[in-house]
Amino acid sequence: IKSKLPKVGTTIFTTMSRLAEDHKAINLAQGFPEFDCSPDLQKLVDKYTRLGKNQYAPMAGVLPLREAISEKVFNATATEYHPETEITITSGATEALYVAISTVVHPGDEVIVFEPAYDSYVPAIALNGGVPVFVTLDPQYDKIDWEIVASRISEKTRAIVINTPHNPTGKVWTLEDLQNLTALAAGHDLIVISDEVYEHIIFDGRVHVSASSLPALAERTFVCGSFGKTFHTTGWKVGYCLAPKDLTAEFRKIHQYLVFSVVTPFQFALAEYLNEPEHYLKLSAFYETKRNLFVDAIKDVGLVIKASEGSFFQNVFYGNLSNENDFTLAKRLTIEAGVASIPVSSFYDKVVDYNVLRFCFAKNDDTLLRGAELIHKII
Ligand code: PMP
Ligand code: GLN
Repeated sequence: IKSKLPKVGTTIFTTMSRLAEDHKAINLAQGFPEFDCSPDLQKLVDKYTRLGKNQYAPMAGVLPLREAISEKVFNATATEYHPETEITITSGATEALYVAISTVVHPGDEVIVFEPAYDSYVPAIALNGGVPVFVTLDPQYDKIDWEIVASRISEKTRAIVINTPHNPTGKVWTLEDLQNLTALAAGHDLIVISDEVYEHIIFDGRVHVSASSLPALAERTFVCGSFGKTFHTTGWKVGYCLAPKDLTAEFRKIHQYLVFSVVTPFQFALAEYLNEPEHYLKLSAFYETKRNLFVDAIKDVGLVIKASEGSFFQNVFYGNLSNENDFTLAKRLTIEAGVASIPVSSFYDKVVDYNVLRFCFAKNDDTLLRGAELIHKII
């Protein structure tokens, strides 16, 4: 058959995890926690399973979860999303992103994508006949140049995809960035798709500025979130999408025929667990300690490390020590040293090698220390 995604192969995350397994390497590549979710949360899943919450959830998600999200978002941003009409529970952020893109993009529409970019955006745009238009950033970029972003907009531009805190750079957008985005999106009547899955993993006193917190932006934005990152439950694949009523109505038309609804007892469990804000507010401090441990352990060999501002990823620039291609080095590190990472060039459309590797620090402390030791064998 004729491929709909001729340029796409197996994802780099699967490829590197497999290579790590084959070589019994420490996996600092694919982004998932090495530790388990809270036993209290596990008990809640058990409770709701036993209570018989095992049949289809409502298409938009179970109401207590939508209500708990609405309250959480209101407390953080003072923006109200109505649980009945403006919040949809999805099969992870991946589904939320896919459906949001599918809702807006018609064949021939252009979509602005910042690269390095998380791997699911471009295929989702392509499958809907859209054309990604890239704003290419160095993985160690300092500030977004909004004039360059504006210069990428044409009559065909329909949407813009953003991600803060950012995978893979760990960059966190400021209020000024979001204000610039608001002006740009309003000026060109663009829809914004905002990937905020790392909203609760943010360091050094920074605050997450959600697209939902600026009313003029929120009115044209799909905010995509995920409980996988927040509660160490990446395997549950429960996420959500916030959007104004008219956008949500169109979003649900697609969601209902893609998955219809999402795993029921887990939604009830998350709803109850979310009612205690400490459960997610403590996450930044937890990961900041891990980031510091990892950065301190690797920095003394002359690697250039700009500490991650958010997410559970740390980028490492090794270009001052070697010009080895990042794919080659990532493979060699896995096979010869026993520690897997992700070559950051895999987040670019046309492979640009900035000599940067991405390491995931959502791992136990001894794994991170051992990983750092192994990295030093080669770089
Ligand atoms: N966006 C980004 C930036 C991510 O890192 C991930 C994690 N894989 C996702 C979306 C997908 O989230 P989920 O696992 O909830 O589908
Ligand atoms: N988001 C994870 C990462 O960036 C991977 C998720 C996946 O394997 N699809 O590593």
